[in-house]
Amino acid sequence: MTKMYAIFKEKRSPGLSIRETDIPKPGKKEVLVKVEKAAICGTDLHIWEWDSWARSRIRNLPLIVGHEFSGYIVEKGEDVSKVDIGDYVSAETHVVDESCYQCRTGKMHICRNLKILGVDINGAYAEYIVIPELNAWKNDKKLDPEIAAIQEPLGNAVHAIFPHDRIEPLAGKYALVLGCGPIGLMSIAILKTIGLEKVFASEVSEYRLKFAEKMGADVVINPLKEDVEKIIFEETNGRGVDLVLEMSGAEPALKTAFKVVTPGGRISLLGIFNKDITLNFNENIIFKGITIYGITGRRIYQTWYQVKGLLNIPNFRRKIKSLITHRMKMADIEKGMEMLKSKEAVKIVLDPVFT
Ligand code: NAD
Ligand code: ZN
Repeated sequence: MTKMYAIFKEKRSPGLSIRETDIPKPGKKEVLVKVEKAAICGTDLHIWEWDSWARSRIRNLPLIVGHEFSGYIVEKGEDVSKVDIGDYVSAETHVVDESCYQCRTGKMHICRNLKILGVDINGAYAEYIVIPELNAWKNDKKLDPEIAAIQEPLGNAVHAIFPHDRIEPLAGKYALVLGCGPIGLMSIAILKTIGLEKVFASEVSEYRLKFAEKMGADVVINPLKEDVEKIIFEETNGRGVDLVLEMSGAEPALKTAFKVVTPGGRISLLGIFNKDITLNFNENIIFKGITIYGITGRRIYQTWYQVKGLLNIPNFRRKIKSLITHRMKMADIEKGMEMLKSKEAVKIVLDPVFT
């Protein structure tokens, strides 16, 4: 067998197309993975819609899209030594050069020559994908392949909560999650699992707010209907929250983040904004003595070990699984994109079936 089906971005215009292509050959330090399950991420939606972000970010076409997946190694390059044929893997989607200043100082996730699967190089919406052996994360054999396929966004949530290796007493604290997309919802599940006293969740979609409750949020707020700041100060006796996770990419949410963070608290910024935003630094950052983390990707590989630890907890695993609201064939990718666009879905898992 030399051919496979894959979902391509062919042209610099909206849409995606399915066609046959050659099964890729792994290079010396690469492996060929047979895709078992894949999942749709907001990034894929941007590429499908061909919005301003996609237009400026996507360079090389045609491109096989998709990056969240799990599968089995079926072939390996001659210099591969850390993984083997038959291994059950997921992928760290940031492909790094291992040689720049950032890579050599423990910050591979912000490699200066970063390439992202399904964005810069061929991705996972296919029957097979080639990845560097360095990017293969060996899964526990018993881990559900659907959950294994969504560890990458789960890693984003973990990274936003644990941006460094210092031991921080988060149990007993107050947190606010702004934006309950898949990553915000995963964050709520983590925060409740590690013992936060009170978790506030803010989201404009009623459908997704229901999931925030299921993940264990103590107070759910729709900012279109209620005053987020007022509720938070009431519920925290005027203190505000210790930790804010900005996971919406919406300007009003960002403004709320700075208002409700308690002096000395911290904000992790993960949501991507589609414009520049002005902010009074003196009032919001300097005199409040807060810490801000910019969160991109996952720390390679600290975050993956943390994800593994969390997924060992049965109740946490069940919560993450419950975020998979729909399952479909890759052949139905258009339908999946439409559903996600309407926000009437959380995670959609795809089977590599094209007929
Ligand atoms: P998503 O777009 O599904 O989730 C964002 C949610 O925010 C949506 O449910 C939306 O309804 C909600 N929202 C919009 N305006 C809001 C407001 N004013 N207040 C509260 N909620 C509001 O995306 P996701 O996959 O969960 O990702 C979250 C964010 O992180 C996105 O902006 C995404 O682009 C970004 N992201 C960043 C990285 C990174 O490495 N930094 C990685 C993946 C995703
Ligand atoms: Zn590098």
